[in-house]
Amino acid sequence: MIKIAMPNLEELAQKHYEALKSKIKFPTCKYALEEVITAKPKKLHEIAMHYKGNHKFDVMIKAYKNFTVKAENTYDAYDLAESLHVNVCPYCNRNYTFTVRSKNGSTRPQFDHFYDKATYPILALSFYNLIPSCPTCNTSIKGRKQFSLTTHVHPYVEGFDNKARFALHVNESSFYYDEKGFDLELSSDDVKVQKNIDDFALEEIYKNHKDIVLELIQKSVMYNESYIQELMKNYEGTLFKNEEDLLRLIFGGYIADKDLGKRPLSKLTKDILEQLEII
Ligand SMILES: [Zn+2]
Repeated sequence: MIKIAMPNLEELAQKHYEALKSKIKFPTCKYALEEVITAKPKKLHEIAMHYKGNHKFDVMIKAYKNFTVKAENTYDAYDLAESLHVNVCPYCNRNYTFTVRSKNGSTRPQFDHFYDKATYPILALSFYNLIPSCPTCNTSIKGRKQFSLTTHVHPYVEGFDNKARFALHVNESSFYYDEKGFDLELSSDDVKVQKNIDDFALEEIYKNHKDIVLELIQKSVMYNESYIQELMKNYEGTLFKNEEDLLRLIFGGYIADKDLGKRPLSKLTKDILEQLEII
């Protein structure tokens, strides 16, 4: 998972609140609605715990559920999606999530409710509870699984970084031309990170990308260090900017940590290239 890192998140959260406010009248509850809608992840958790399973709030929660349905019908999620510019699913780093509005049809990321809306209806419209994500992660795999800041990694708080790594395990000498010759593993010593890996079935899903890993192995043989230096000498500053640029050109993924969310499979590419000692 890749952290959603944008400098103006607070501003966007405020805009999201203003947009909702202009559409619909809010019900009242212990927390001011502005606070609920713009609550940062830690506060989200606090609010979630305050209301969860507490029957004295049943009437208020029911009113809030009705409000949420109305608000979801009037609020244009395309505005939120467009403002976020999250173009690759942060949960899997595997599927594009561009927002496009065209006369021939439109598409945007789905918004996963990190705290599921059946259990936590009060957080159904909270900015930091709405995670732009792909249909595979949100609908097919996560479904109604219970997520929480204490059990899972939240993409507005952190990414996997180096706490989870893809690793190549060579079984047979055929590994550089046959994907059956190696295994691909994704695991972590961090309990929360491992929970994300398990709950999004990331290791099983990524095993279907062994063809990409095989290509990385093959390219790492073809583009050895002296060949890369030759390409640098001939084309740096004309065909590409620097070595990082050249490596992206060759291996097809961004490798700087800050850029991993720009293109699918960049985390996979980076980890394997590190293991192959290319970077
Ligand atoms: Zn995804």
